[in-house]
Amino acid sequence: MKTRLRANLFLLLPVTCFLLLNFICFLLVPPACLAVDDLFDIKPVADGIYAAIAKPAYKVNCNAVIILLDDGVLVVDTHSKPSAARALIEQIKKLTPKPVKYVVNTHFHWDHYQGNEAYPSSWPAGVEIISSEATRANIQRLGIPRIKNEIVSMPQEIARLKSDLEKASNAEQKTAIQENLRQAEAYFAELKLIEVTLPTMTFDHSLILHRKSRTVEILWLGLAHTNGDIFVFLPKERVLCTGDSLHGWTPFMGDSYPYDWIKTLDAAEKLDFDAVIGGHGDVMHGKEKFELWKQYFQDLMERTAAVYAEGASLDEAKKSVSDFLVKKYAAKFDPGFPNSVIGNVAKAYQVIAFPR
Ligand SMILES: [Zn+2]
Repeated sequence: MKTRLRANLFLLLPVTCFLLLNFICFLLVPPACLAVDDLFDIKPVADGIYAAIAKPAYKVNCNAVIILLDDGVLVVDTHSKPSAARALIEQIKKLTPKPVKYVVNTHFHWDHYQGNEAYPSSWPAGVEIISSEATRANIQRLGIPRIKNEIVSMPQEIARLKSDLEKASNAEQKTAIQENLRQAEAYFAELKLIEVTLPTMTFDHSLILHRKSRTVEILWLGLAHTNGDIFVFLPKERVLCTGDSLHGWTPFMGDSYPYDWIKTLDAAEKLDFDAVIGGHGDVMHGKEKFELWKQYFQDLMERTAAVYAEGASLDEAKKSVSDFLVKKYAAKFDPGFPNSVIGNVAKAYQVIAFPR
């Protein structure tokens, strides 16, 4: 069902409330919240459309997409923490005086929605946060408990970094661990203060913004990386934003539906686009990466099914299937591929051994 998004009239909150929020932020947030403009490389992709490519961080930030509309801005994804979203907001303000009116969460993973609160607190007059129905439900059912778990596990992570720091054998290593420790401590402090901000507008299959200057199609095309991933498609400019359904790193498959994911990528490929902005890594072009991921998923599932049928244990499957995949694909993915692939084999084994 296609829904036309109509202009919304929001109550304007008093200016004092806005100032108060900023003052509270100033008092409460860790130093990282105040760091601005060095977290993203802003790359123009088409007229009024920018990819915000996240720079490496200890707690990863996803990319964002900044889409200028006639009367406001639409931003795709909000990173792992409000301070990262605030840093991007500062960069957006250098591009345009228009307010952000729409934020899209491509899916429920921590590195794509935990910064949501930064947008309504920066524009208290009203920001609609848009996601699929499944993503909103996933944030409530899975995202919030995962934050609570991370708050419990972070002190151990910080202790591990401190112990690594003591063992560091050279100055270069020491500097790198010190920086990671600083970011981990800032993230932990911020995590405890996160106000989970849920999407305010959901849809089942598609939501289309019809504007004079451009049309923005927000599409759910099937099960993929999660059950709620969406694509943001700009038909006139031939730009497709894919979230983590397709990006420049190795796919993370923990919450995925591998067989459906292949079909969903097939459906996305039918759209007419050139530039592709994924949730991680650089801007891509054309359909090459779609073909790579589909072939990778196919090989992963076929090989795992074959060794499972021969009676391989999970550990045996991890070894033999990942050996095969590393040989065939390591040069085509990021340097972390050999480590990530083991988790993917475990997921494939689970899907094959316990079909839904
Ligand atoms: Zn991600």
